[in-house]
Amino acid sequence: MSLDGKVAIITGASRGIGKAIAHSFCQAGAHIMICSRATNSINQIADALTNQGYKAFATQADVSSRPDVETLVEKTLSEFGKIDILINNAGITRDTLLMRMKDEDWNAVIQTNLTGAAYCTRAVIRPMIRQKNGCIINISSIVGIVGNAGQANYAAAKAGMVGLTKSVAKEVANRGIRVNAIAPGFITTDMTAEFSEENRKKILDLIPMKSFGSVEDVAEVSKFLASSCAQYITGQVIQVDGGMGM
Ligand code: NAD
Repeated sequence: MSLDGKVAIITGASRGIGKAIAHSFCQAGAHIMICSRATNSINQIADALTNQGYKAFATQADVSSRPDVETLVEKTLSEFGKIDILINNAGITRDTLLMRMKDEDWNAVIQTNLTGAAYCTRAVIRPMIRQKNGCIINISSIVGIVGNAGQANYAAAKAGMVGLTKSVAKEVANRGIRVNAIAPGFITTDMTAEFSEENRKKILDLIPMKSFGSVEDVAEVSKFLASSCAQYITGQVIQVDGGMGM
């Protein structure tokens, strides 16, 4: 699967799934702009990729801030002249039962995970319409499909991403732009490293394949959806979850 010469923005790429997508896209020939809130880590990743001969730029951007998102898109256009692919990957958790959840925890998760994805999507659609081609991939979650006690804010945001995906897919399909989502199950990253051993065992019981996924599992499906192999696929949610949500 080649992404030769394609320009991709990947949000939240300082670690975990976003970082794996950045590596995988570079290996497939894409030129990338990666962002996260922290400048140091994102610059180090872009530098490492550049040293390996890839074309990778980094910029600090908080996706929950509309001005930051607009700057991210402007910088990408001025560096590369086009945007072919957007990966809405940035995400946070603030887990607790809904009855104990503070407004700020609800709002932070919705603002970053859902509104941030909507800001980024809206900002790239205009250049993509001009190009008459584009591909947007939203990293949702299996939790947005099946729910999870203690994650009402996160599950609501991730379910919202599914609605966002399907609605925008319908709005822009006739402009040559495809919009899809990936719903990962439990993937081994810093986000899931915080789980207790007991919690981890409980989760494994729910996964027919009896293991957590890897960041590469999600990166490979992202690459497929971004490539011409998926040129007739839009408005879909692909579950990468070891069978958890079937
Ligand atoms: P992670 O916590 O390891 O990485 C998240 C990344 O997003 C980091 O680079 C962080 O700096 C960035 N980020 C957070 N808030 C941001 C903001 N406001 N602006 C810009 N960047 C921001 O998480 P991960 O496990 O790699 O998850 C990546 C995505 O996949 C998230 O959207 C997450 O919800 C989703 N997901 C993860 C799993 C899992 O099991 N790890 C499962 C399903 C879905």
